Amino acid sequence: MQNSWSLPMQSKNYEIIIGLEVHAQLATRSKMFCRCAVDVDAKPNTKVCPICLGLPGVLPQTNDQAIKLGIRAALALGCSVNLESRWARKHYFSPDLPKGYQITQYEHPLAEKGVLELPGFDKKVRIRRLHLEEDAGKLIHSTRKTLVDFNRCGVPLAEIVSEPDIRSVEEADAYLKELRLVLRTLGVSEAEMERGHFRCEPNISVRPRGQKKLGVRSEIKNLNSFKAVREGIARAVKDQIEWLQQGKEIVQTTYLWDEKLRELRPMRAKETAADYRYFPEPDLPPLILEPFEIEEIKKQIMGTTVPSNQGTTVSFDVSFVLPAQKRKEWLEKGLKKQDVEVLVAEPEWERYFIQLSNVGASVKEASTWLLNEARGILAERKETLAEFKVPVKELASLIKLLRDGKLTRPAAKELLAAMADKGRNAAELMEELDLGGVSDEGLLEKTARKVIEENPDACGRYHKGKTNVIGFLLGQCMAKLRGKADPKAVREMLMKLLSETR
Ligand SMILES: [Zn+2]
Repeated sequence: MQNSWSLPMQSKNYEIIIGLEVHAQLATRSKMFCRCAVDVDAKPNTKVCPICLGLPGVLPQTNDQAIKLGIRAALALGCSVNLESRWARKHYFSPDLPKGYQITQYEHPLAEKGVLELPGFDKKVRIRRLHLEEDAGKLIHSTRKTLVDFNRCGVPLAEIVSEPDIRSVEEADAYLKELRLVLRTLGVSEAEMERGHFRCEPNISVRPRGQKKLGVRSEIKNLNSFKAVREGIARAVKDQIEWLQQGKEIVQTTYLWDEKLRELRPMRAKETAADYRYFPEPDLPPLILEPFEIEEIKKQIMGTTVPSNQGTTVSFDVSFVLPAQKRKEWLEKGLKKQDVEVLVAEPEWERYFIQLSNVGASVKEASTWLLNEARGILAERKETLAEFKVPVKELASLIKLLRDGKLTRPAAKELLAAMADKGRNAAELMEELDLGGVSDEGLLEKTARKVIEENPDACGRYHKGKTNVIGFLLGQCMAKLRGKADPKAVREMLMKLLSETR
């Protein structure tokens, strides 16, 4: 099946060039230049003050935490952080921007020249710059009127701009997913796309393969889902290829993506920097950083989460481990790729996994019983890990019962499902449900003898060299033992008895 963003065959003759700008909302409690709470879900226009409304005579003050988070993101992306950066005013009119300008960073951004590696693509995308700025408010349109909510005015953002190094829809998708993961892992941004915490503006151009000169760019504003990004970029590429083939001139344009019609709606001819009349923000001094401040933040982005063989407990609050590093470590521990992605992308699973390893489960046991079995049960019930009724200690007991041969694998699965239902102690519930395995040698022997007696034909064939008959006899034994014995032990018993009766 074709994806909704698949490109036509003739696109192979063209080179696609994509750069991405991302606005990520920084996870601070208060706004960028005032002390209003960041709470965009609050009743409209209740989280505002003269500063974020831009009333005359007020003085903005920078939020230290926002700056720290910006530095953390910049370092994680391998950027060099500038010891001096500056604030600038970017002027434009919008009903949701009561000041008539936005405070941002222009010629002197917080950080520059980073890189993000795309997992699975063996490719690095260069980051041009990362700067801090404030958000605008929100317009709420209905059929007859438009309302404005200023609660979002002044909410801190990091804008992260890539170089035009991206060459396909798939790479753009991978870049955004990895960037989002980095920001979330580091606690820089919640980056919840549906809540507008992570918005993307791609710029796209195409040129015939072999041509040196870059094509004319189309820019798409404020996309806030991965799907919208993929479909929007694919649409822009298709349109541009069509225009080139028809010999039309492409005009640099900014578009809005219409999700329903899957079309790009021209918004305006692209403005240039001159249109914004950038000038230095007169109310704020340059942002000066000391090298030790940057070093301190750098130290946080280190360390290792993967448990060592000694089972050291790991603290999650002190250090932040980058997804690429985690991926490498978990793969080295022998985990499968898809399991690694769960641990890297979902911290609550990673935490449980590490705790399980800390109480004695091997990496293989933990991946089987947590990431496959338990995750399967929860997925079936449409529940989250937070709703999982089995504490780490009890899952570890189940694994130990299995390891010690007190449970068979199918019985362990049944026990886990029952534990997830009832939230009970593994050993107790095993007794209660009579799931314990038959390890009693006497009973195994008795059962095997009985099966041999009842099946003289099969035994005869076995003695004539048709040794695969043992599978049938084993099945008979397991049925009599209600599947609760270790098949390996039963097979050994059968072979021993069969060799005696020869
Ligand atoms: Zn305010």
